[in-house]
Amino acid sequence: MNKKVLIVGAGIAGCSAALALARAGWHVTVIEKQPQWRFQSSGIFVYSNGLQHFRQIGAMEPLVQAGFAIASGRNRYLDQDGRPIVDVAYPALGSPPAPPILGIKRAEMHRVLSGLLTALGVPVQLGSTVQALQHHGSGVRAWLSDGSTHDADLVVGADGIRSGVRALLWPGVQPRYSDFGVWRSVHRRPAELVDKVMMMGLGKRLGIMPISHEKLYLFGTVAEPEGRWIDPALWPETMRARFAEFGGPARPFLDELSAHSEVLYTAVEEVVMPLPWHQGRVVLIGDAAHASTPFMGQGGALAVQDAVVLARLLAQEPSLPAALAAFGERRMPLCRFVQEASHRVGRAGAEQDPVRHAEAMRAFPAHAQAHVDDFYRRLHELDELDAPV
Ligand SMILES: Cc1cc2nc3c(=O)[nH]c(=O)nc-3n(C[C@H](O)[C@H](O)[C@H](O)COP(=O)(O)OP(=O)(O)OC[C@H]3O[C@@H](n4cnc5c(N)ncnc54)[C@H](O)[C@@H]3O)c2cc1C
Repeated sequence: MNKKVLIVGAGIAGCSAALALARAGWHVTVIEKQPQWRFQSSGIFVYSNGLQHFRQIGAMEPLVQAGFAIASGRNRYLDQDGRPIVDVAYPALGSPPAPPILGIKRAEMHRVLSGLLTALGVPVQLGSTVQALQHHGSGVRAWLSDGSTHDADLVVGADGIRSGVRALLWPGVQPRYSDFGVWRSVHRRPAELVDKVMMMGLGKRLGIMPISHEKLYLFGTVAEPEGRWIDPALWPETMRARFAEFGGPARPFLDELSAHSEVLYTAVEEVVMPLPWHQGRVVLIGDAAHASTPFMGQGGALAVQDAVVLARLLAQEPSLPAALAAFGERRMPLCRFVQEASHRVGRAGAEQDPVRHAEAMRAFPAHAQAHVDDFYRRLHELDELDAPV
């Protein structure tokens, strides 16, 4: 008889785990707290390392078709007035090579992943969450919010940064605030805008990324004090004000922000959780275990890679608890590396002293490409730990 897995959360990690485990022969049930599929609809970008893992669960091609791939891998760095600083190229990894960078609307990414689940016949119970978990014999019993119980051999907590599964079993682990806010808005894409653009302001960064042939999104990072609540009705005008000093290619998009614009504000948190990431037959993956600040754009890649590695370990390791222990040990070094790299980039971007900022920008062209190359070299080395699974 097939083993049964209950996956809590149908974001990137949950859908990916459901695809990987269903293909490996597991009987999969997914529960998702949201009553309808509704994903806040700004953009996300996924680099080649993440796309390689989406390929392994059969999702890369449809994602590439639904988004905007930057085949050159080019990221143009500009100052806040739009003057060029340096261009860098992100690598196309794998064989055949996956695109270096894909921009896609989150809702589109989700449409692709949930469509693949439907095609595989994997049920997703919307509007459902887990209220209690108890190990018994060689399984776990979950009490769901609709009053039912569900017995499984394995429970995967893929329920994001505010994970309910984590709250049940690791109540002491809390997200911590990063001191940054991220502002995002969606706009019509002018045909000539085909690269990723990063504008380096004083204490702020503002990026532009195509997410389809018709659309692009703007994403800006800026220090925001903890606990500041900003009325969503004011997000468009607040975003325009936060990045008022930016010109160049961002200017027309900032100018067009109005009450009707699609704008999203997120106060960024992270989760730094010690091992083990499992208790008995319950394991955390994705943001639930290791949410990162978004400066490396790697959270989605880590989530899908968790899913692929977990499925491979479960297939190869006869003891389920041993597979879950191996999962955390293999994934933590890479996740910590990304979290720390993201901290460094975040701190550098938050430099508010004009003299130090100017010095950093003068030095930047000489080492920008080397930083990208070193990051991917190290990712690859840490990834190699996963290879013999
Ligand atoms: C501002 C910002 C920008 C980012 N930009 C990028 C980027 O460009 N590229 C990138 O790769 N990453 C980016 N990330 C990170 C990326 O979004 C996350 O790492 C990724 O979404 C993690 O996927 P996940 O499935 O673990 O969690 P989530 O995407 O949060 O999914 C969790 C799912 O679980 C559901 N859920 C929550 N609680 C429960 C519960 N109790 N019961 C049942 N279901 C529940 C939620 O509704 C959701 O569907 C960004 C993050 C932020 C904050």
